[in-house]
Amino acid sequence: MKRESSDEVIVVGSGVAGLTTAVVLAESGRRVRVWAREPAERTTSAVAGALWWPYRIEPEPLVGAWALDSLGVYEELAGRPEETGVRLVEGVHRGTRLDELGAWAGRVPGLRAVSEGLAARLPLIDMPVHLAWLRERFAEAGGRVEEREVTDLASVPAGVVVNCTGLGARSLVPDPAVRPVRGQLVVVENPGITTWFTSVDHSCDASTYFFPQPGGLLLGGTAEEDAWSPEPDPATAAAIVARCAAVRPEIAGARVLAHRVGLRPARDSVRLERQTLPDGRLLVHNYGHGGAGITVAWGCAREAAELAGAAPGV
Ligand SMILES: Cc1cc2nc3c(=O)[nH]c(=O)nc-3n(C[C@H](O)[C@H](O)[C@H](O)COP(=O)(O)OP(=O)(O)OC[C@H]3O[C@@H](n4cnc5c(N)ncnc54)[C@H](O)[C@@H]3O)c2cc1C
Repeated sequence: MKRESSDEVIVVGSGVAGLTTAVVLAESGRRVRVWAREPAERTTSAVAGALWWPYRIEPEPLVGAWALDSLGVYEELAGRPEETGVRLVEGVHRGTRLDELGAWAGRVPGLRAVSEGLAARLPLIDMPVHLAWLRERFAEAGGRVEEREVTDLASVPAGVVVNCTGLGARSLVPDPAVRPVRGQLVVVENPGITTWFTSVDHSCDASTYFFPQPGGLLLGGTAEEDAWSPEPDPATAAAIVARCAAVRPEIAGARVLAHRVGLRPARDSVRLERQTLPDGRLLVHNYGHGGAGITVAWGCAREAAELAGAAPGV
């Protein structure tokens, strides 16, 4: 390895995990590059809804702390919604009870039981805007993003390598514990809905949710385990619209603007740990965030940066 690259960090992956980790590292004074096969706008992160809420992610006690840490950051970013893509929006989780959630729930400001379920004002993140903003913030901190596919983490030429490849880790690490949980969404012209809504049926892979974003109302959704198809399925899309319209009838006639599909990088447990490469260099893993990679992004990024040797508290 060349001497000039020994103090450099290369973060592999430009989804929310990679870009957020890269921002934290670059702002701590490290020299950082991001290498990614796909640009941010073509990642799973760009597909997400995206509501701040721990969903389909483990282990719960760690997730709670990462999520609360991230909540604090998103609340601050919501002061500049046009720029950051983050807004605080009211909504209801139908059928969810406080006593079925972890201790973290008691620390979410304004989270309250209502007759229908749980109500709260939570960060709702317009991901295409947020990812572009993260990339810009990274560039301002001196970082560079390069389009590169990595086939061997040990051959990435940097003193510290950070693996934020999401589902890509399955073949790259390789780690068969990372599996896809397919999610399909429909974007419709918003018929005037200003609050978000979710209703999760744990007995099947279909749920019902809608999120008002500036570019339209996002309707969801599905959580299909081990399903790899990136193509939207028309029957699934029709069923999503019908379920949402059963909650808010005005959705039934809304013009469809787009279909989105993403594969959540699910794992029994998020992998956030340090490993030593055969030649003694450091490899930090930060992947496997399932259905809540945005929810935990800042907490995980800060921990990953500490594992990579950055000073704590950045
Ligand atoms: C429909 C849907 C709705 C969702 N809703 C929410 C929500 O409301 N709230 C929430 O918090 N989360 C939500 N999620 C989950 C969230 O999207 C993911 O947890 C998160 O995007 C994972 O981010 P990531 O950066 O780890 O992975 P990704 O966004 O997949 O990024 C991985 C990056 O690694 C790169 N890469 C992979 N392999 C290689 C390689 N070999 N070489 C180089 N680069 C490589 C890719 O090109 C990409 O840049 C949702 C997901 C879906 C699908």
